[in-house]
Amino acid sequence: MKATIKHIAAFSIAEELGIETGDVLLEINGMPVIDIMDYFYYRDDEELTLTIEKQDGEIWDLDIEKEIDEDIGLEFTNPIIDCAKSCSNKCIFCFIDQMPEGMRETLYFKDDDSRLSFMMGNFVTLTNMSDELFARLIHYKMSPINISVHVIDPSRRKMMLGNREAGKIKERLLALKEAGLTMNGQVVLLPEINDGKYLDETIDFLASLYPEMQSMAVVPVGMTKFRENLPRLKAVNKAKAREIITQIGAWQEKLLERIGARFVYAADEFFKRAEWNIPAANYYDDYIQIENGVGLIRKFEDAAMVAIENNSCPLLDDLPIVATSTDAADMMYRIQAAMEAKCGRSCFEVVPILNDYFGHTITVTGLITAGDLIAQLRKKASGRRVLIAENMRNSDGLFLDDLKLEDVKRELAAEIDLVAADGAAFVSTVWRNL
Ligand code: SF4
Repeated sequence: MKATIKHIAAFSIAEELGIETGDVLLEINGMPVIDIMDYFYYRDDEELTLTIEKQDGEIWDLDIEKEIDEDIGLEFTNPIIDCAKSCSNKCIFCFIDQMPEGMRETLYFKDDDSRLSFMMGNFVTLTNMSDELFARLIHYKMSPINISVHVIDPSRRKMMLGNREAGKIKERLLALKEAGLTMNGQVVLLPEINDGKYLDETIDFLASLYPEMQSMAVVPVGMTKFRENLPRLKAVNKAKAREIITQIGAWQEKLLERIGARFVYAADEFFKRAEWNIPAANYYDDYIQIENGVGLIRKFEDAAMVAIENNSCPLLDDLPIVATSTDAADMMYRIQAAMEAKCGRSCFEVVPILNDYFGHTITVTGLITAGDLIAQLRKKASGRRVLIAENMRNSDGLFLDDLKLEDVKRELAAEIDLVAADGAAFVSTVWRNL
């Protein structure tokens, strides 16, 4: 694929040189730019020659003198430039295998590409990398890299990932540590498969890689209602969730003494399934695994409460609907009560949306579809304002079931406000930025 330029940063070196959107970066210092690793590696020199193909086919060689590490200001149409690598696993718990037919085609693509991990935070298993590619990753020092470890025991990992190559994980992680690459680990917890002593062993080993391995998140397996002909798995129930939280808590205490960090964290979903309160902010340290659903609720609620405390109640008379996941509903009721106490009147109505699309065991906001929003709000939203989380849509502005925001607005005859995963922004949106 070509390194076609999508955006030029304002006041950047690229802008000054007359590089334009639609031009193609061919080489840096005579070396071809095959993927984003090449680009990041070669662009850090102080003296560069960029070879650019202009849209009319003309080739420009541009000499640059700059500070080391100074950015050139290029962004590419395809963030990793090359085609994304697909995964070579057959994980027994793969969420994509549990999606119904008829969703957007891109959602069925099983990526497992370290370049996407570096650029977008995706998790990779390191199973589809030749030794040569792995050496390149180390040579280019691409980090941080987020790694789906799942279990450190080689034969368990091969079984979980359905891949004979998956057992070499310890060697690869040790090589990444040796090279000084920053990592974060993830375990998808499957009852009776990688819990108990396997989880102990995995935490123990990953913690031994600290500080290069910065943190580890444990998330419960997601099981939709579309599991026909797939391996039989047990869901994480209340008792199992309590067991895992307790096991992780004991490790946090041990690791605070051993390495000075809590290091391992249970995802918010465990606390919801355990029917236990979400812990205080210090459980999450600096929320390093928040993108993995670890600490989202605590961070959102704390920020909302501060915003309510620090702002005065505006003179508004609308009563917007907050459409949220079942996991986030309790938090929304607490925020609702705090705003009501401040204003002396109700500020919004909470409507928890059940996930009819994937099944009611799916309880997180990011997997709510437009169809469920429309069906469950149809009777009450007309003419009102509805707040929904921004992460219900992907970067193209589409919901998982391929509908657009305009479709939801039209079907509900409602005004829709999108809210980022930020409690202060939520309060500000309810109070119309006052
Ligand atoms: S790595 Fe496993 S879970 Fe991820 S996409 Fe591939 S098969 Fe699915």
